[in-house]
Amino acid sequence: MEAQFWSQFEKRLKTRIGATSYNRWLSHLTTQDISSNTATLSCPNTFVLDWIRLHFYGDILATLREVTGQDLSLRLVVAPSREEKSRKDTLPKRQLSLPGTENYLHGLPFINREYTFTNFVVGPCNQFAYASAQAVTERKSRLYNPVFFHSSEGLGKTHLSTATGQKIITNYPETKVFYTTAEWFTHEMIQALRKNLISEFKEKYRKRCDVLVIEDIQFLQGKDKTQDEVFYTLDTLIQMDKQVILTANADPREINDLKANLRSRMGSGLVVDIKKPDYETKRNIIARKCAKEQITISEEVADYIARTIESNVRDLTSALINLIATSSLLGQKIDLDLAKETLKSFIKNKTVTVAEIKKFISHHFKITLDQLQSKSRSRGVTYPRQVAYYFCRKYTDITLSAIGENFGRNHSSVLRALNKFETSMRTNRNVRDAINYLTDKFEKSYL
Ligand code: ADP
Ligand code: MG
Repeated sequence: MEAQFWSQFEKRLKTRIGATSYNRWLSHLTTQDISSNTATLSCPNTFVLDWIRLHFYGDILATLREVTGQDLSLRLVVAPSREEKSRKDTLPKRQLSLPGTENYLHGLPFINREYTFTNFVVGPCNQFAYASAQAVTERKSRLYNPVFFHSSEGLGKTHLSTATGQKIITNYPETKVFYTTAEWFTHEMIQALRKNLISEFKEKYRKRCDVLVIEDIQFLQGKDKTQDEVFYTLDTLIQMDKQVILTANADPREINDLKANLRSRMGSGLVVDIKKPDYETKRNIIARKCAKEQITISEEVADYIARTIESNVRDLTSALINLIATSSLLGQKIDLDLAKETLKSFIKNKTVTVAEIKKFISHHFKITLDQLQSKSRSRGVTYPRQVAYYFCRKYTDITLSAIGENFGRNHSSVLRALNKFETSMRTNRNVRDAINYLTDKFEKSYL
């Protein structure tokens, strides 16, 4: 029974993330067990574990949910192979859970315990956000409420908001810190409505928590009912002097399709942005990570990585972990050549334009540009158009409205199409495979 379960799990995971990534990274996973709602998987070493946690955590959780029909927590551990056992003593040990805090950190599967203030590198790009987060951990008074962190992807919002929650619990262990995301909040609310448990749901967030973190507020765009619920929750908590911490990919004033009362509530405390890291900060992040992993890399390689990765801290850490993990799997030392080779996939030509995406899509689907931009609703045109929107989101920084303008649509129609498309990617294997193929092809030609 168990063996059957794992083989199904592996099969689905492979389909979900594609054979290449699966074979490279996840085939090294060995399954251990499932007990007390936790699935334990072991990785050959800490570097591979880091990489998997960074990139496939969500996919693994989602696949577990698909196969078991339950929301399980995921525990990744290091179980070295026999050859590696001899090196085991030199590998840093990890603490995967902090006993005693589980009762309070609601939404545990989301929490990454390594997101602490100590592990956060401060530089000009994020020092104000860092100081604001620190200030929130002092209970003196709620000077800033809510605190709203915003930035583009991978710049430390989740890290900082998790660090804040963890520090509050360390300082004041009796505090009930609830951590959630706008998506999860919405999901929970829908479930509660279905099961006639909405008053319990309301009570949980309004009465039983002292600090509430809700991440990725942009997910609430256009979801009026959830917005109302979030608004009343924030209102109640703030009136009771409970701390609220929010994050999003944009300033609340710039998130479209939010109701005015919620927008102004969210912007009424402290709104702080985090910027892309400068060269020095990037070097410090690299140095910190290497020290933690007990790895030495040359000045030349560190400089190369810091100069090459411009996008965000997630890509920077990813590139470094990829390099370290690749060297550990291949048994090859880290030099400039290996760095150049492994960083190839991170070097993105940022000049992908909507025009290039349109050209690629219309060529691939054999339709004309006019058809792609037309009002036609025939499937032969709407599907390529959805893919084009998806590519615009994935490969450019432009807003939904700007994408809309490029196709003669408004931003809510783009949002609707994207939601529909993403659902079909999640639920339809053929769509997913086709898009993986197309993505590869696009990246080969344009990135
Ligand atoms: P966001 O929520 O803004 O998308 P995350 O908080 O998930 O970004 O950060 C992405 C990755 O980069 C995480 O692994 C995080 O630990 C790391 N990171 C971001 N900023 C820093 C920093 N200043 N110091 C160290 N690590 C950072
Ligand atoms: Mg985040």
